[in-house]
Amino acid sequence: MPELPEIAVLSDQMRGKVVGKAVMDVEVLQPKNLNGPVDEFIEKVVGRRIVSVKARGKWLFLELSDDLFLLINLGMGGDLLYYNSDDVLPETYKFKMGLSEGSGFTINFSWFGYIHLVNAEELTAHKMTRGLGLSPLDDGFTLPYFQEILRGGRAQVKSFLLNQRRVAGIGNVYVQDILFKARLHPKRTIDTLTEVDVEALYHSMRDVLTRSVAMGALAYERDFYGNKGGFSSDQFLVGYKTGQPCPTCSTPIEKIRTGSTASYICPRCQKANEKPQ
Ligand SMILES: [Zn+2]
Repeated sequence: MPELPEIAVLSDQMRGKVVGKAVMDVEVLQPKNLNGPVDEFIEKVVGRRIVSVKARGKWLFLELSDDLFLLINLGMGGDLLYYNSDDVLPETYKFKMGLSEGSGFTINFSWFGYIHLVNAEELTAHKMTRGLGLSPLDDGFTLPYFQEILRGGRAQVKSFLLNQRRVAGIGNVYVQDILFKARLHPKRTIDTLTEVDVEALYHSMRDVLTRSVAMGALAYERDFYGNKGGFSSDQFLVGYKTGQPCPTCSTPIEKIRTGSTASYICPRCQKANEKPQ
């Protein structure tokens, strides 16, 4: 499932290729991805220009001319691929948007996803995105902001980080090393975090995510040009490394259940609800 780094890489690449171009034609092969009838969708978007592309959590926001937004969510994953006039299109896709100069992009969802069209004035009412929190790489996501959203919380730290309304863009892949670097057990509750813990967590979130973006994001997801990212499992510290030695203390990494998700931890570096010495 793409998380913030994958969406940030896609959005940067898309921006460079599609902004300023006009929508020439659209093909919708899986109408249930849309939030309205196919013919209405096509009628509204064809002829508009793409004004901007932004990442918000796990969503891509494409602003079209005359106050219309196209919101894309790849769900469990999928390929969102650019094509040029002389490129061969992918064999299968669920959605295609042809742009000026014979270029465009296709989307092939691996399971399910969303392509929603929303008027600017209805954007704040769009159910699936209106409650999204800031992403850790957003300018406004400062340490005081993070301290503020944690204040008074009693949730487990992992579920807090995965809650898209609190922190947008982190999923079960990156959260593993984020918690390890901050030396926090996933089940530690927020009310037990010291100021030092909170600061460590703030920096580990930004470090892990920034590093992945710089490397082109995950190696098992494809970018806008169909290339795999450079952030492979070799880069993980404890994530998906059951039985391997902790990079800090060599204790074997354990896989544990945390609610509906799996967690990978060093049982020595990450203690449950205990203040570190
Ligand atoms: Zn350790």
